[in-house]
Amino acid sequence: MNTLPIHNPATAALITQVPADDAASVAAKAAAARAAQPGWNAVPLAERKACIARFRAGVVAELETLAATMTGETGKPIKMSRNELNGLLGRIDFFLKEVDAQLATETVYAEGGMTEQIQHIPLGVVVNISAWNYPWFVGANVYVPALLTGNAVLYKPSEYATLTGLAMARLLHAAGIPKDVFIAVVGGGEVGAALQAQRIDGLFFTGSYATGAKIAQALGPRMVKLQLELGGKDPTYVCEDANVKNAAESLADGAMYNTGQSCCSVERIYVHEKIYDAFCAAFVDTVRGFKVGDPMAEDTYIGAVTRAPQLAVLEAQVADALAKGATLRIGGTRLPGPGNWFAPTVFTEVNHSMELMREESFGPVIGIQKVSGDAQALQLMNDTRYGLTAGMFTPDEARAKALLAQVNAGSVYWNCCDRVSPRLPWSGHGDSGVGLTLSTYGIATFTRPKAWHLRQA
Ligand code: NAD
Repeated sequence: MNTLPIHNPATAALITQVPADDAASVAAKAAAARAAQPGWNAVPLAERKACIARFRAGVVAELETLAATMTGETGKPIKMSRNELNGLLGRIDFFLKEVDAQLATETVYAEGGMTEQIQHIPLGVVVNISAWNYPWFVGANVYVPALLTGNAVLYKPSEYATLTGLAMARLLHAAGIPKDVFIAVVGGGEVGAALQAQRIDGLFFTGSYATGAKIAQALGPRMVKLQLELGGKDPTYVCEDANVKNAAESLADGAMYNTGQSCCSVERIYVHEKIYDAFCAAFVDTVRGFKVGDPMAEDTYIGAVTRAPQLAVLEAQVADALAKGATLRIGGTRLPGPGNWFAPTVFTEVNHSMELMREESFGPVIGIQKVSGDAQALQLMNDTRYGLTAGMFTPDEARAKALLAQVNAGSVYWNCCDRVSPRLPWSGHGDSGVGLTLSTYGIATFTRPKAWHLRQA
């Protein structure tokens, strides 16, 4: 039997080892899910909803333990782990409220003995290969609507959030979801690859562009529905009429929350030259106030970097920015271990020749660039292969709407950032991915429309 070691990124200590899957067990799990799916789809929707409601209650009952488990294996500050679990509840409520309407058969024509209907049937067996940075959010965005709409789910948590993924499976099963309708699959990239090779009806992936591109290449000829929620290099533009202090505090939080490891972290900031110096000073002041430390401590704001290899990526971005003339305002180095630690880092006088402004940092590192006005800001915001989110700070609503309408991004923010709503679709342009989760579209995406042409004899 394979095993997967689970480490605490804040201390490097081994937490435990869990049994892991191999090619044979993955194939057996896929076959079990295939056999179980029709039975689950035959369960009345009200009962499927009752299972998910009990799952929600289970999360509430164990919230403290679940938060500690997530913090232990990811290094996420404990308050942010609690925030994620509390945020999850609103997402579940949204799906429970909206699923009936999404599954209702629509009669779109009825005349002269001819009726046309659209029925919404489940995809079948769907795979969810997930990320570690918000394991509850990105997992539940897929498996909650997938289960509600009658699919069986093979769920592979990230190898950096496996204990959390196993807790999800335990709570779903305790809530009445049959064991073979939601199956956790444990392991790293090779197990994900084995999973994608099975006979499946949909693959929903959250993770990096590099892995997403590999999966897309493998699945292309197989005509399997594929959704990829990938990384970003999310820009925000601060106009000269913005409230400097409010914008600096909001954007420092948007850049550094979860130690900068959010898909929608603010990754690039453009500031109008008229307020550039004041903004940079306020931003650095805010970052200086962020407490770095034990992720289990209540007052910690910056926790450990989850994946050790990311430290080298951050160091390379820092070295590249310094070599190309950026000004380091704070941080810039690893912090002493054990564990994976990086100081919150702010660069000013950056430009687009620097990796820091082009490739996802996914850590507590940010660059702030001076711009002359809206035209230059827009050009720089769109100078990226990604397109997940983008934002603008100004009291002028018309100006913000005019500019944000021209930005290539799945979500745009006016006077806010780093925000996800269950009511709105979550999607990316370009190398940030294809497909979407959340909103009513994020329920419909787990169904297939079947067209009925019915003529009375
Ligand atoms: P990753 O690509 O390293 O891993 C993601 C998942 O893919 C893991 O479960 C991993 O085991 C699996 N995997 C790795 N190689 C595989 C292969 N060859 N075949 C199949 N599966 C394989 O990403 P990560 O480090 O877990 O997540 C961080 C990335 O996720 C960042 O780029 C972040 O921006 C992105 N992300 C995006 C969103 C979004 O909604 N757009 C949300 C969260 C995270």
